Amino acid sequence: MQGNTSGVIPAANAASAYVGRLAPTPTGYLHAGHARTFHQAWQRARTAAGCLILRIEDLDESRCKPEYVDAVFEDLRWLGIDWDGEVVFQSRRKIVYCTAWRRLLERGWIYPCPRSRKDLGTLAPHAEEPVFPSAWRSPVPSPDRYAGPEGTNWRFQVPDGVSVVFEDALKGRIQKTAGIDFGDFLVWNREGVPSYELAVVVDDHAMGITEVVRGEDLLTSTARQILLAQALGYNSPRWCHTPLVCDAHGRRLAKRSGSLSIQTLRSRGASPADVLGFVTG
Ligand code: GLU
Repeated sequence: MQGNTSGVIPAANAASAYVGRLAPTPTGYLHAGHARTFHQAWQRARTAAGCLILRIEDLDESRCKPEYVDAVFEDLRWLGIDWDGEVVFQSRRKIVYCTAWRRLLERGWIYPCPRSRKDLGTLAPHAEEPVFPSAWRSPVPSPDRYAGPEGTNWRFQVPDGVSVVFEDALKGRIQKTAGIDFGDFLVWNREGVPSYELAVVVDDHAMGITEVVRGEDLLTSTARQILLAQALGYNSPRWCHTPLVCDAHGRRLAKRSGSLSIQTLRSRGASPADVLGFVTG
């Protein structure tokens, strides 16, 4: 497996006006929807004569597997998608996320939270992403009470009622309201893992990402990430959210729909053009 063992961000992007990234989570095999999104990210970076970094989002050690990481490399190469510089592994950058956690604590944005994901699920069993109720908020603590994030969940306190507006390259103006479209969200969990939201914001900033290309299932996450970036004193990148790919029954492709993994399509004789044609057609 190739990769960056130090957790340091590669310098290949230093001179580029456009810096994009591919950010797969290796909890399963990539499917045709990933192929589409990654191909679009690649195309936008190459058209802009920019730089494209591959970042493996492997923070959740209980769900990420080395064979899925290897499959990412293989699938991308097979699709003709290349990247620049060394691969970045989030699992090697925990110290950097911890520094960001500390900064959020010192600035009064986060609080330790006894409520679990399960509590939230029981509140709204059918909602895909239940909104964390503000009544469940704990007070923001004094920073010197905590030496580190260990042992509890930590949530970001969203500014209720604040409208987050951003321009998307494909979808135009998007607006989400804090406290209504999304509530307080995790930045660190009690198992000791920084959240997706925190790690992405820290890394997009550290890597000098100028445009994020990803699936439109993450539109609400974008609003969270804009608030998090502001709280950390970072500028946000530009955004480009790609349409999701559905199966013949109209269901959104997910890693669990293994029959449409790139590996499976390939083993059935599909060519890269078939896979990309299938998803764009
Ligand atoms: N790692 C995330 C995923 O696979 C995408 C992260 C992002 O593009 O911001 O869903």
